[in-house]
Amino acid sequence: MIKRLSLVIAIITAILLTACDVPAPATFSPAGNIPAPAPSVRPSTPASAPQAKPSQAASPIQPGTVTAQVVRVIDGDTIEVNIGGKSYTVRYIGIDTPETVHPTKPVEYLGKEASDKNKELVSGKTARLDKDVSETDKYGRLLRYVYVGDLFINAELVRLGYAQVATYPPDVKYQDLFLKLQREAREAGRGLWGIAVTTAPTQTPTQIPKTVIPLTTPAPTPTDIVYITNTGAKYHRAGCRYLSKSSIPIERKEAISRGYTPCSVCRP
Ligand SMILES: [Zn+2]
Repeated sequence: MIKRLSLVIAIITAILLTACDVPAPATFSPAGNIPAPAPSVRPSTPASAPQAKPSQAASPIQPGTVTAQVVRVIDGDTIEVNIGGKSYTVRYIGIDTPETVHPTKPVEYLGKEASDKNKELVSGKTARLDKDVSETDKYGRLLRYVYVGDLFINAELVRLGYAQVATYPPDVKYQDLFLKLQREAREAGRGLWGIAVTTAPTQTPTQIPKTVIPLTTPAPTPTDIVYITNTGAKYHRAGCRYLSKSSIPIERKEAISRGYTPCSVCRP
């Protein structure tokens, strides 16, 4: 009887002791039975403590989202901004708007439309700039996604049909969104898609031979506009089946000078 009792006591004591033993040292000293004294001492901070922070921002721009003042709209996809007193040129990621510098009228017209729309959206505003992978393009312009309030400007220009999707890896974070918006814009005939699309389904009398441009102004030489893609090396007529993924209007001369050759299917 006494033996049993003392055994039970011994067991209980043992349990209590181990119970007391367990919680304290569990964090870092499983082997050492020394009753862990000061909780503030971290065993893992012997030598490496002081080098934690100072090696971060080499570039003047902080990583991630930055607030900028839009100083000037250069064209449909490029703006000048002020960040912390410094001026930077920002190129919108993932999109292309028609050039404003080329002399052919339709291109100029669309380019101006895009530029005006961009002005309407961002001019004089405070914008948030967000980067993808690349910091700058080969011209030293900051590559950024641009937001004004809740509006995602890169996407909005595509949605309205003033910009086309232009994907330059590795900066592809919103490619799917842009392509979806572009499809919608094209189907709705918005912006530049309106002009490209109306060349086909107008009620032009069947007789009329070659003048297919339904613009109010007598456009000079409509055939001088051809279409290229983001990836291909050929230029095409509007509506060519190879333009299903992307279709960028461009002056023929310009296409040729950039090394594009005529598509053998649509024979532009
Ligand atoms: Zn073609």
